[in-house]
Amino acid sequence: MSHRPIYLDCHATTPMDKRVLEAMLPYFTEYFGNSSSISHVYGWEAEAGVKQARQILADAIHATPEEIIFTSGATEANNLAIKGVAEAYFSKGRHLITVQTEHRAVLDPCHYLENLGFEVTLLPVQQDGLIDLTQLEKAIRPETILVSVMAANNEIGVLQPLAEIGKICHQQQVLFHTDAAQAIGKIPLDVQAMNIDLMSLTAHKVYGPKGIGALYVRRRHPRVRLAPQIQGGGQERGLRSGTLYTPQIVGFAKAVALGLETQASESEHLLQLRKSLWSSLSELPNIHLNGHPTQRLSGNLNISVEDVDGSALLLGLQPVVAVSSGSACSSTNLGPSHVLLALGHPESLASASIRFGIGRFNTAAEITQVAKQAIATIASLRRSLTLRRQ
Ligand SMILES: *Cc1c(COP(=O)(O)O)cnc(C)c1O
Repeated sequence: MSHRPIYLDCHATTPMDKRVLEAMLPYFTEYFGNSSSISHVYGWEAEAGVKQARQILADAIHATPEEIIFTSGATEANNLAIKGVAEAYFSKGRHLITVQTEHRAVLDPCHYLENLGFEVTLLPVQQDGLIDLTQLEKAIRPETILVSVMAANNEIGVLQPLAEIGKICHQQQVLFHTDAAQAIGKIPLDVQAMNIDLMSLTAHKVYGPKGIGALYVRRRHPRVRLAPQIQGGGQERGLRSGTLYTPQIVGFAKAVALGLETQASESEHLLQLRKSLWSSLSELPNIHLNGHPTQRLSGNLNISVEDVDGSALLLGLQPVVAVSSGSACSSTNLGPSHVLLALGHPESLASASIRFGIGRFNTAAEITQVAKQAIATIASLRRSLTLRRQ
């Protein structure tokens, strides 16, 4: 283990907290029942675990337990929210609004709907990655049925102004969905105060297990209608059929509970590490910070480096630190990140970028080591470039 590089890719996924694993274990072997089995104690035990988890997750976002629909993750939750609303409200209107810097799990369902005859407005972002609220207001039309804006960006960590967006949507009577995959357990989320109607969540970005997430669906003021995308046994009020994955659900709730308990102190810890990394790296010339300097996740640092080749840079860092350029999800397509391009970067600069995702278990010593390696790699790549040019 000690020979593996330092893990700084926490926006792709996080290591699972051992306390989460402990909470999950009895639900694999002992409380293994099907939570839908109502005629015996095995079912009741599983149902009790699910019920408690649902309550914890609802409390975490100021919702009620009936408003939490378990899914396989944020990708499925986004698909259910976007396609489910489109299918339920198409007679009211066929226009949706989202943002250029959204995750593919939001953009792709929107593109799919475009092929079915819906119209999608993709809002641009400002240079700091934030949307312009006046532009949002102007984009809303009588036939708009959904606005989808993410809480925290998975590449540049930028936090969109959820409460302000929610207020606009509420006034215009348009449903507001937010992809909060990177935000849950890390920043305060309140579906009441922020006027959020649908919210996608996932466990594995907050030290929980992979393969579990949820969609919050508002039941009152207004009651959101949704067409199910997976049909069958009628679990989750018919909105998402399939036997509930009890151990993952229990682990998800434990992870979020731990995140909330330590939110303030952990955020401060991550902020110190990020500041230390940036203060070292920014001593080099021609290095740019991507995204708003303060309105961002504490553990996120995204930089673009001039005068280096992007893939050579990642290769040079690889033995010491596990990071990525753009997002893990789009790393299969080799082009520059759509998020960095949306900030207005030229392709060359968007390609030579590193996303550092600092997490709960990283230490100051690790950050020092990473900073050293990054500085050495960048300096050496720039030297060889200058030599080649001579
Ligand atoms: C990771 C991520 C997703 C996908 O979540 P899964 O649970 O892996 O499906 C969606 N949106 C954002 C912003 C993410 O960071």
